[in-house]
Amino acid sequence: MSTSPAASAAGASACDVLVIGGGPAGSTAAALLAERGFRVTLLEKTHHPRFHIGESLLPANLPLLEKLGVADAVKAIGMEKWGAEFVSPWHDHKQSFEFADAMDKSMPMAYQVRRAEFDEILIRNASRRNARVVEGCQVRDVTFLPGDAGARVQARHDDGSIETVHARFVLDASGRDTFLGNRFKAKQRNKKHNSTAIYAHFSGAKRNPGKAAGNITIFWFEHGWFWFIPLAGGTTSVGAVTWPYYLKTRNKQSLEQFLQETITLCAPLGERLRHARLSSPVEATGNYSYVCDRTHGSNYLLLGDAYTFIDPVFSSGVMLAMHSAFVGADTVDTCLRHPRQAATALRKFDNTMRIGPKAFSWFVYRVTNPTLRDMFMAPSNIFRVKEALLSVLAGDVFGKTPIHGPLLLFKGLYYASSLLNFRRTLKAWRMRKHNIRVVDETGAAMN
Ligand SMILES: Cc1cc2nc3c(=O)[nH]c(=O)nc-3n(C[C@H](O)[C@H](O)[C@H](O)COP(=O)(O)OP(=O)(O)OC[C@H]3O[C@@H](n4cnc5c(N)ncnc54)[C@H](O)[C@@H]3O)c2cc1C
Repeated sequence: MSTSPAASAAGASACDVLVIGGGPAGSTAAALLAERGFRVTLLEKTHHPRFHIGESLLPANLPLLEKLGVADAVKAIGMEKWGAEFVSPWHDHKQSFEFADAMDKSMPMAYQVRRAEFDEILIRNASRRNARVVEGCQVRDVTFLPGDAGARVQARHDDGSIETVHARFVLDASGRDTFLGNRFKAKQRNKKHNSTAIYAHFSGAKRNPGKAAGNITIFWFEHGWFWFIPLAGGTTSVGAVTWPYYLKTRNKQSLEQFLQETITLCAPLGERLRHARLSSPVEATGNYSYVCDRTHGSNYLLLGDAYTFIDPVFSSGVMLAMHSAFVGADTVDTCLRHPRQAATALRKFDNTMRIGPKAFSWFVYRVTNPTLRDMFMAPSNIFRVKEALLSVLAGDVFGKTPIHGPLLLFKGLYYASSLLNFRRTLKAWRMRKHNIRVVDETGAAMN
């Protein structure tokens, strides 16, 4: 690629594309751009392998893994996931879905993965494709230079030394750290949603028989819902996603006590964990629903969680992060090689970045609503609405499959049923409004 004005001082370097963060978004973008001949530097503040939450992938991830050349490596560490199961205390049966029943029958399965292993596969792949990958190096400052002069990035290595990198283009893939979103004060709390999570790994949890052993189970309960994600090797990831007020009721309890106590509120989950033992520290994450007011700017793009994150219920985060990296890599390629087409490419990037969050958020905002719950627990396939729903659950939301007609009908049925049950709808709407309020450390509501 063309040479950018190389910095010559000690601890200084130059590249075409500087990637902040080596999670799924950053490592994918780095691999794709390095393969196209760009000089890519990826700076990751931690060292892989490292723990990360977000272990359930979607079928729509698989073609991306194929294109990256890591499908076999992921298959080797993954637990096969052929579908999802929903368990509700308000219904007397379980409801299972298989991805094979989605509109596109060519994407019948996905994997559950330990993110320490999955993310390491992706970042080593970026190295193998000639990206310069530096771990233990935290980006501290980015100055965008006037015109097309690119950016000066300052980063601190673990040993305290400072590196300055001059880059023509910056990709922010810093995840929930939202490096540029914070710097530009562009990050906004999602006013329509708010949840928290507490989670850990268990050994000895009871799995479903046969092919369903790796399926994710979602258990609704009074304060939100639980995930049950079987991983390869016998470990199971269990997490409670709750309204913020609930996490604040922990008081002085340890996270472990609080998680165990929360599990006792969901009998069917308790049953599956009856002989299980905690095998990891318990972690909690609060207030993670946000969006930045832009997807890009002059010489930078925001990828994956660095742009937005809504909620984990449909396991869409990793797929959306990797998808944003694929579209982002095309966009950077156009901006650097064909600057006259940059505006069109950036517009396309912007539109694409909004598709996934929009498709999933309609369901996320309603997944604890009794009407949607009823529809999930007794799905009808009239005019292929169930197949379209399954396509969304599979992550097939980018226009390849004609899901829009059936989805419109699904939403119409939802609104009609909500009207028919007007009192229940109003009560649920009020309850949700109350539940998503921000609460402070003491548990008091804040405006
Ligand atoms: C409770 C919970 C459960 C979830 N469950 C699922 C799930 O089941 N399935 C799913 O698909 N998604 C899930 N997600 C979402 C998923 O974790 C994220 O969407 C996904 O990891 C986003 O990938 P990313 O590459 O954008 O960011 P990340 O994976 O967060 O990677 C960002 C990387 O940037 C590095 N970094 C940050 N700042 C800097 C800096 N200044 N300098 C250098 N490096 C930096 C970090 O160390 C990190 O390695 C869940 C999220 C939460 C909160």
